[in-house]
Amino acid sequence: MDTIIECKHCGLFLKNNNEKIKCPRCGSRIKNKEHSLDSLYYAITALLLFILLNIYPLLTLSLNGNTLKTTLIGTISIFFKEDFLFVGALVLFTIILAPIFNSLTIIFVFIQSKMKRKIFSFRVLYDGFHFFKTWGFIEVYIIGVIVTYIKLTGMASTTSFDMGFYIMLFYLFIFYMSNKKFDIKSVFEQ
Ligand SMILES: [Zn+2]
Repeated sequence: MDTIIECKHCGLFLKNNNEKIKCPRCGSRIKNKEHSLDSLYYAITALLLFILLNIYPLLTLSLNGNTLKTTLIGTISIFFKEDFLFVGALVLFTIILAPIFNSLTIIFVFIQSKMKRKIFSFRVLYDGFHFFKTWGFIEVYIIGVIVTYIKLTGMASTTSFDMGFYIMLFYLFIFYMSNKKFDIKSVFEQ
């Protein structure tokens, strides 16, 4: 059954037929309330997957009977061990911190929208979300892992993707969905 909803941007009343709709007058997107929680669930799932992703190795190499396993943190720590501090810090920020803070910002926006007291202003959260979204480069890292895999298959006797790699692919999808579904303005206007 159709219900009548109001466009939060220009005040126009229109029919809601349970789909994402665009306001015919001002063109802003109007979403149903139950849709807007999706990004929260995706962000929580993304954080949990990120923890798992750091536990399991990404790649396993076997060379002359020795087995080497590498994790996400392990690959980043190599930069610091080899004294590439700036590159290490940049990789740490773009691969680990920015994606974590991106998910945390999404979760926090939902928490704050339910609280009476406002800890951060809308502007800070809005800018923060876009900042961490812009600086998250985990998809570039995955391409790097695949390239490493292809290069190593020729050298090491057996190279295989490990559990962590598959978790990472799944993580990337969930992470992407949490950002795609997130509409900071509609959460604040509820
Ligand atoms: Zn409108």
